[in-house]
Amino acid sequence: MTNFNFPRQLCIECKSIISNPICESCLAKDITYWMRDKNKKIVSLVGHELNKITGKGGHSNSSCISCHKGAFLCPYCFTNLLYSKMKAHHISKAVLLDFLFIFNFDFKHEGYFKDIEKLEEELG
Ligand SMILES: [Zn+2]
Ligand SMILES: [Zn+2]
Repeated sequence: MTNFNFPRQLCIECKSIISNPICESCLAKDITYWMRDKNKKIVSLVGHELNKITGKGGHSNSSCISCHKGAFLCPYCFTNLLYSKMKAHHISKAVLLDFLFIFNFDFKHEGYFKDIEKLEEELG
């Protein structure tokens, strides 16, 4: 059954190989848990965005490290989409920083990692 010639899945956003695939539904579950004590604005904003992302679907060769379902976005792009949305809607800096702390997939320090440093400085 194993086909070693299977192409590795590329993230549909950044087009790079998804090296640590976590599928959209596993990430959505974690983020929904994170939202349990957040206000209505955040819950509806992030919830709406989550539905949009998980609805994208498509064919995927990657296998989620947790449930083995296919992932078509890398965890960085997934969390960055939500983070950008919250930032654009002026969600409080404390909440943004909390989100980035918990869902920090910017291992290369090229994306929202810079925002973490900036937010930490601003919030003291
Ligand atoms: Zn990506
Ligand atoms: Zn999964």
